Amino acid sequence: MLDLTIRGAVLVTPRGRFAADLHVQDGKVAAVGALDAQAARVIDAGGLLALPGVVDSHVHFMDPGDAAREDFVTGSAAAAAGGVTTVIEHTHGAPVRDAEELRRKVAHLRRRSLVDFALGAHVWPDRVGDLPALWTAGAAYLKVFTCETHGVPAVLAGDLLQCFRTGARAGATFLVHCEDQAITRERERALRAAARTDYGVIPEWRSREAEAVAAAEVALIARLTGARAVIAHTSHPPVVDLVARERAAGAPLWVESCPQYFYLRENEVLAHGPFRKFTPPARLRDAADADAMWRRLAAGAITHISTDHAPSTRAQKLEGDIWTCHFGLPGVETTLALLLDAAHEGRIAMERVVDALCEQPARIYGLYPRKGTLAPGADADVTLVDPARSRVLADADVLSKAGWTPYAGRRVVGAAVMTFVRGRLVAREGRPEGDPGWGEWLPGRGAMA
Ligand SMILES: [Zn+2]
Repeated sequence: MLDLTIRGAVLVTPRGRFAADLHVQDGKVAAVGALDAQAARVIDAGGLLALPGVVDSHVHFMDPGDAAREDFVTGSAAAAAGGVTTVIEHTHGAPVRDAEELRRKVAHLRRRSLVDFALGAHVWPDRVGDLPALWTAGAAYLKVFTCETHGVPAVLAGDLLQCFRTGARAGATFLVHCEDQAITRERERALRAAARTDYGVIPEWRSREAEAVAAAEVALIARLTGARAVIAHTSHPPVVDLVARERAAGAPLWVESCPQYFYLRENEVLAHGPFRKFTPPARLRDAADADAMWRRLAAGAITHISTDHAPSTRAQKLEGDIWTCHFGLPGVETTLALLLDAAHEGRIAMERVVDALCEQPARIYGLYPRKGTLAPGADADVTLVDPARSRVLADADVLSKAGWTPYAGRRVVGAAVMTFVRGRLVAREGRPEGDPGWGEWLPGRGAMA
């Protein structure tokens, strides 16, 4: 007797789609296709697409850290509702810098997540020696900042070279926030000297040049050392292209981007201020800029999409001035919806959506083929999608503690209607189901080596 059969859906993979029944036993995909066996539960999924659950490889749930902004209970519920079955989380306010801090965080989260989760760790410039032990303890990636941000110190070129050499020997994967320290500092000094506090400081302070210079340096050091590195939240085409050149030269690099770099305009910050303060900031100036990003995602130069979910409530966003209010946007529950809509609009194939949201992040961070695929033997993490459902994104539907979304008022076509983690239903019709604690910690590839 099987546990579950999902009948009549069209399965979407990066390499094509086909109608097939999906059979689940003991939390795993037992078989795909016709099977002469009864199941304890049968779900009729006619008219729906079955996707591998989304792997959102860059979220901040601030647990522990700043539970007034988000915690794992709310963040993972929002993830489930949005079709996300695995998150990779790290929190700047309570960084994980050694193996003991990682073990403590895993223990803290034992009963707090509805979806499966892996954990990133932070590189501190004076603690590079701790990296190999941190990696083998199971960190999913080692997060590096090239400029001091969110209270995390900058790793400058000399330390970065050391850190990537050490990481390359250990086989570690880095996730790198690329903005040049010297350029952002000079911009901040000049803007403050001019007594600027208007919302226009954000794109001037966090400039295209600062991002491009840092990304070029990181990509080059990745090639020189052979360290595996992901360029985080890549915001505009020249950065994608300069990383692509180092990839073509053999560097083990990947290019992450996020929906805000495909949907939000640079000038929105002038009207919305704190609610568009995130970094790198939005860069789109016109429709052609958005087309250029979609082309790079479709072609695979942007390898994968994450959210960089970093919520604050409206009240928290309004604390202080534009210099001191929190960076970040909520988004873990809207990313799949926005990408489904892009597929509906014909900007990108549904197969590539599955590749960029599911298979690629699972592969990069060592979770594949347990995650990121519906092949037999994989975890039965399934997101059932109605590709034709039209709705308007609204603040009232947001489950994150943020309570708002920068995409409010936007009509999207395509919605997650049921989300399963290891065969258990964790969300239906945008509402979470079941108790936190079902989600398990997934050690990174260093722990499995
Ligand atoms: Zn982030």
